Amino acid sequence: MGNICYTQQMSTLSDSEAASLRSERRRLLEELSRLSLLIHGSYFERYSTCSRSGCACHEGKRHGPRGYVALRSAGRPGQHYVRRSQVSAVQRGVEQYHRLLQVADRITGINLELMRGGRLDEQGDLRA
Ligand SMILES: [Zn+2]
Repeated sequence: MGNICYTQQMSTLSDSEAASLRSERRRLLEELSRLSLLIHGSYFERYSTCSRSGCACHEGKRHGPRGYVALRSAGRPGQHYVRRSQVSAVQRGVEQYHRLLQVADRITGINLELMRGGRLDEQGDLRA
């Protein structure tokens, strides 16, 4: 557990400070809605051999590189082949997941500032 921070709890945010935090939060939430490709996993490429006997891949000319995505989410772990036409979409999706985490951390920071300033309410943005 981290430090317990009491010192700033009694400060108060002004209307304009609270409004600017809420508008930053709104922009971040809009950005989240655009992360439609996100994939919780990592992309990698590798060379491989096939099951055809006599194929050159068994003599050192291995197939590839072929792209795969290794999923990290609980639902469907494992490695999945990525066809070439979708490699860049998958790579963007992996980046989007990292952006999702950054945004979640920043929103946490914003909400903490609002809370310390007595400006966090259950309605969230619906009332802003
Ligand atoms: Zn082969």
